[in-house]
Amino acid sequence: MKMKINSKQKKLIMIFLIILFFILSISNFYNIYQQLKNFSGKKIIKKTKTERTQEAKTKEEKEVKKIYKKTQKLRGYKNNNFKNTIEKQAQKYPHTFFLESPIVEKKIYLTFDDGPEKIYTKQILDILKRENIKASFFVIGENINYYPETVKRIIEEGHTIGHHSYDHINFQNYKPEYVFETQIKRTNQILKEKFNIETNLLRPPYGVITNQQIEFFKKLGYKIINWSIDTIDWNLKLDKNNIINRIKDQKHEGAIILMHSGGGNRKNTVESLSEIISILKKENYQFSTIDDFNKF
Ligand SMILES: [Zn+2]
Repeated sequence: MKMKINSKQKKLIMIFLIILFFILSISNFYNIYQQLKNFSGKKIIKKTKTERTQEAKTKEEKEVKKIYKKTQKLRGYKNNNFKNTIEKQAQKYPHTFFLESPIVEKKIYLTFDDGPEKIYTKQILDILKRENIKASFFVIGENINYYPETVKRIIEEGHTIGHHSYDHINFQNYKPEYVFETQIKRTNQILKEKFNIETNLLRPPYGVITNQQIEFFKKLGYKIINWSIDTIDWNLKLDKNNIINRIKDQKHEGAIILMHSGGGNRKNTVESLSEIISILKKENYQFSTIDDFNKF
């Protein structure tokens, strides 16, 4: 059977072919132009230093965006509203929920989540000792049982311990009473038994906590300490320079810096720490610990 093409269809096919031809020639010309440019000018072959830095920065920014999207999911937020939520919470509960120090002082708070663990927590402690500064460790109750010696060191060397739950659940999926019983009270019992200490300082996993839970913890005298600078040190797609740059760009008086001493490979954290400390020391920051927040 023969297919009949009427003149209208012929016209359409012609138009389609012409458009296709144009697209192909434009992309071809562009390729030739690029090659010529590569060949003749040094601009593309030898990128200037600033161009390369800009490129690295853009790559970094893209990666950071991806990471934020991912963590957003972990936190259980559908839209990009985690930041809004915590900012509102800090405003609503000024004496209970903190993103930074409420007073202007040349102080800065290094904080480490997810420890203790086998390798990195000790390396971080070694650096802090060498630098003669104090920091804060938000520990996971379950891990205290595995690495009590490391927790002992944290306490003996003058750092501050805070809660980071018993087994890293997302608080917002549970009732306040349940969170308190299974995550906080339980961890306090372990701390009391093993080291004769207890703490009212708390950083919820992922930084996520509901208003109802804040109010519950407020009544019990707890302080919830989130952060103002996220180093994203846990992400190994980024290197130690990314952590250092984030500190350089974002450092401010009263900042709470989020880092990790456990929960995975923390070599970037360890490798960047000395330099971060030296940058902040040069600017005369005083390294303080989170028990300061009990005064506010
Ligand atoms: Zn955590």
